[in-house]
Amino acid sequence: MKYSEFKDLRLSRLGFGTMRLPLLEGGAIDQLQVNDMVRYALDNGVNYFDTAYPYHNGLSEIALGKALSLLAEENPQKYSRSRYYVADKFPGHQAASEYNPRKVFESQLRKCATPYFDFYLFHNVCENCWDVYSSHAQEFISYFMEQKEKGLIRHLGMSTHADLPMLEKILDSEYGKCIEFCQIQLNYLDWKLQKAEQKVRMLNERGIPVWVMEPLRGGLLAKEFTCNGRTVEPREMVEKAFSWLMEVPGVTMILSGMSSFAQMKDNVSIFSTGDGLSNESRELLAARAESLMSRVPCTACRYCCDTCPVGLDIPLLIQAYNDMKTQFSFTPQMRIESLPKDKQPYECLNCHTCNRHCPQKINVAEVIQDLCGMLKEHPTWSSICEQREKASIELEAELNRR
Ligand code: SF4
Ligand code: SF4
Repeated sequence: MKYSEFKDLRLSRLGFGTMRLPLLEGGAIDQLQVNDMVRYALDNGVNYFDTAYPYHNGLSEIALGKALSLLAEENPQKYSRSRYYVADKFPGHQAASEYNPRKVFESQLRKCATPYFDFYLFHNVCENCWDVYSSHAQEFISYFMEQKEKGLIRHLGMSTHADLPMLEKILDSEYGKCIEFCQIQLNYLDWKLQKAEQKVRMLNERGIPVWVMEPLRGGLLAKEFTCNGRTVEPREMVEKAFSWLMEVPGVTMILSGMSSFAQMKDNVSIFSTGDGLSNESRELLAARAESLMSRVPCTACRYCCDTCPVGLDIPLLIQAYNDMKTQFSFTPQMRIESLPKDKQPYECLNCHTCNRHCPQKINVAEVIQDLCGMLKEHPTWSSICEQREKASIELEAELNRR
């Protein structure tokens, strides 16, 4: 495992992000698989585990706490609390004015079954929630600094999806003065698309170490890609994406939201080997980024879904939209048609609620309206099936007549 230095700590460069844990068929977290993943991570040198209050509707913290406690019970020495680092976040980005920091923090310690957090972040400080964060700055900062003095938080940081001017404003505020690290969305696509290059430079200039989230953009950068007649398999694309990140100045921690034991194994092996990127690989990633620039940059985080009054599966619809736009086939249409009637994109009220909750700042409402327009322009999959069936009946009748 590759490591990086942070203060007096040695952090594995790969961190286990627990926003997209493996699920069982009914949708519950697959705790047994999580236990295996956590064990494999620790046995192979991963020592950083990241969770947050809203992940899996609050159940990610519990699943991680369970897995770590189980290992500690099994072998208290090998899996002692001092061998790894746990990170959690204060959900100020979600209507935080009604949150009581003490209540939230104490419940998080209980849920994660830990006496302290090594890393604690103000979650997604950005344009959408700056009014809450700024108006409660005194209260939030003094409470969490107090926990730091008590040793219940070892290092305080923040995560953010803010645009450049907002990021600068935040870093110049009281939050900027108290944070020791900053977690941003960074990968070779967002380097240009979300101005991550300038964000990294801004953090570097202030001496703030960079924590990476969405290194594969919700799996989008883990897909097969063909360039100059050569098809690069998903695993190799993942390897290149991580290698690219490891070379970005100031990048200390790369969090990957792993959803299966196989992904954990692959990622551990990538972070244990590798010798940097060749020029050919750089060109390939540049070509891949170029090919993705026209897609709607949804990461399938689902932050918008809970707020949609008609409960649309927004990431699914956006994926279908992207697929239809970039490479027309009937598959995305089939996916949409198989949805229940009340979950079809036509049910969208164009209320724009989703727009306010999207960290990627996607105009979701507009995309859904655009999708409806595209669907209307193309024959539906069921009508094509009907036509085909009608044609085959006619052919059969014709053959019978002869
Ligand atoms: S605009 Fe449409 S997709 Fe967005 S929240 Fe409203 S109903 Fe849901
Ligand atoms: S539209 Fe935005 S909030 Fe919704 S899933 Fe995609 S990235 Fe997340």
